[in-house]
Amino acid sequence: MRIHRLKLSGFKSFVEPAELRIEPGLTGVVGPNGCGKSNLLEAIRWVMGESSPKSMRGGGMEDVIFAGTDRRPPRAFAEVVLKADTAARADGTREELEVVRRIERGAGSAYRVNGRDVRARDVSLIFADAATGAHSPALVSQGRIAAVIAAKPAERRAMLEEAAGIAGLHVRRRDAEQR
Ligand code: ATP
Ligand code: MG
Repeated sequence: MRIHRLKLSGFKSFVEPAELRIEPGLTGVVGPNGCGKSNLLEAIRWVMGESSPKSMRGGGMEDVIFAGTDRRPPRAFAEVVLKADTAARADGTREELEVVRRIERGAGSAYRVNGRDVRARDVSLIFADAATGAHSPALVSQGRIAAVIAAKPAERRAMLEEAAGIAGLHVRRRDAEQR
């Protein structure tokens, strides 16, 4: 899977709609302290289904919505759109994937995949499955390396399973067992 476009609106410091193209190759994000570099990476994690406000440096999930400044009123919602190519199929064709996550004050998060309303877990499964294989995308955030070293064995196993792309299988097994 290759992420090639990101659109943000009302997400943290990205108050005005912003659209970023991510070209093939290495992408670096540079800028002065506080300009929103980490917010950008958090937007990617968020649209992929991040459910922990703490890992988004907030107290509650609504903290991702632009909170306003002296000169600008707060926003009522935040939205992130991620566009990606899925991995090539056996016949060489690729599918476009568009994932939208939106949060409104007092109304929680809603997700859409290629224009259809889906549940948070459907989005998590898409990205969990995309991690399968040798070319798996992996997000390694600051402090995560130390967390791997300090983790309890069960936590370390969960991280390795996520990296190996089998986290989605466990979710499906739990689902099947409950039926
Ligand atoms: P550094 O180089 O220090 O790591 P950075 O470029 O990663 O900086 P971020 O941490 O992404 O910067 O951005 C922080 C800025 O985002 C702060 O100015 C903060 O006020 C702003 N910010 C975060 N959440 C919100 C929000 N909900 N509403 C408005 N602004 C926000
Ligand atoms: Mg930062």
